[in-house]
Amino acid sequence: MSDQAAPVLPHIIAGKAVHSAKCTFRLNTNPGTGDPIASVPMDDVGMAEKAVQAAAAAYPAWSKTPVGDRIQHLFKYKVLLEAHVDELAEIIVQEHGKTTAEAVGSVRRGIDCIEHACGAPILMMGRTLPRIAVSSSFCRTQDDGGVGIDSSVDRLPLGVCVGITPFNFPMMVPLWMWPMAVASGNTFVLKPSERDPSSTIRAIELAHEAGFPEGVLNLVHGGPDVVNHLIKHDDVRAVSFVGSTKAGEYIYSTGCAHAKRVQCMCGAKNFSIIMPDANKEAAIDGVFGSAFGNTGQRCLAGSVVIAVGDAAGWLIPGLVVKAKAVGVGRGCDKNTNMGPLQDQAAKDRVLGYIEAGVSAGADLLLDGRECSMPNAGCFVGPTIFDNTTSNMSIVSEEIFGPVLSIMRAPDLDAAVAEVNKSEYGNMSVMFTDSGHAAHRFETTVNAGMIGINVGVPAPMAAFPFSGWKKSFYGDLHTNGEDGVRFFTKSRVTVRRWI
Ligand code: NAD
Repeated sequence: MSDQAAPVLPHIIAGKAVHSAKCTFRLNTNPGTGDPIASVPMDDVGMAEKAVQAAAAAYPAWSKTPVGDRIQHLFKYKVLLEAHVDELAEIIVQEHGKTTAEAVGSVRRGIDCIEHACGAPILMMGRTLPRIAVSSSFCRTQDDGGVGIDSSVDRLPLGVCVGITPFNFPMMVPLWMWPMAVASGNTFVLKPSERDPSSTIRAIELAHEAGFPEGVLNLVHGGPDVVNHLIKHDDVRAVSFVGSTKAGEYIYSTGCAHAKRVQCMCGAKNFSIIMPDANKEAAIDGVFGSAFGNTGQRCLAGSVVIAVGDAAGWLIPGLVVKAKAVGVGRGCDKNTNMGPLQDQAAKDRVLGYIEAGVSAGADLLLDGRECSMPNAGCFVGPTIFDNTTSNMSIVSEEIFGPVLSIMRAPDLDAAVAEVNKSEYGNMSVMFTDSGHAAHRFETTVNAGMIGINVGVPAPMAAFPFSGWKKSFYGDLHTNGEDGVRFFTKSRVTVRRWI
């Protein structure tokens, strides 16, 4: 039964809001106040089946709709989203806990993906090579004097595609997936995070206002039972997942075992290297924003910083001064620079890591348990540890909270060696004024996304986005050229005109 204190969230199937009658519900609360927000259906597998059926029924007509017509809905959708940025951001602030500025930024980044997907007529274009052979060489049994053989490759949709998304960017991450998928002619079933799906629902409602036909885009809530139904379903062709490495490893192996095309963008532990010659202000700002932005709940959070040589002398005091000045509070409050963690379980996990860092012998320079913050809600302030080492859990494991671990290294090579010890490889950045050092970093560090003099090499819709090692499973990353290839299959045609 649902908790009557909070409205039950609907699924959206074949263009209509539908409610689960009988299943387990999860109660979500505002992480800044503890007030109930919504009840989310968790295990209504029947709804997942209906969503796939709706997507499968819509596929024949949608895949035959010319791509130029398909993207007209995306153009309208972009305009609608622009008009609803503040409304969507407000929902995110209430349910996720981001600051208003962070929430608005996340909606805008999502809109970038829609703009990119509007380019589907060009992005999907195939290639042709005329007269790749002559018939005498192509077919050795006849010699007609060399009639030309032309060959071309087209990109075609796959069928029903599924997206499974995390809580930390509830509006933006789904937009990495479905706009490109449907622009390419697929139909889609989205399973958003159960922790904060309200902005995702609103975004899908707006997509229907923009004119997407029934069944092209469906949303179903749930946890592992629902996910399992989707990733094993005979009618599902591809699965795009973003979330933790643990869930991603399971979804990748299970999806592949059921013959799906799968991409899993997973967890991370990201390192920033600061060289002594770096621009001090840019480096301090960059490390600070990367570690504490979105309360550290980003797959691109730079949660370990390695000070090279005497960079520690100016970097560490600069970071501590900045972190002490942070206003920790509710995301909607104008004085807030850092909101709460998204739920109590996240807060408990982060507090556990702070304990672990102290027990392991790291120096706690700033204790986020003791900063000024509201009593109710899931708050932890910025936390900084110094003299940390790679065998401490605060350095090797993803904390996903506002905890920065500082390491020291004598030179760049030693710093890169520390980065490369990590089992993750999502991103790494460095700050330096030396082109030589930057080049050495670029060519020796093991990470899928790297930044030079930027704290966060943020995803750009036109470029592929994702990491290496345990941060990614699959072949094609999300966004950019990879996104188009992931949601399409190639067909080669060989032609001879006699
Ligand atoms: P999560 O893995 O707990 O959940 C992600 C999705 O997977 C949710 O929809 C959830 O319902 C589903 N899920 C979780 N466990 C499952 C299971 N056992 N079986 C089937 N489905 C399951 O992740 P989260 O806590 O929502 O998000 C935070 C994680 O996402 C972090 O690890 C972060 O680094 C990662 N992330 C990665 C990227 C990237 O691009 N690499 C981007 C954003 C977030």
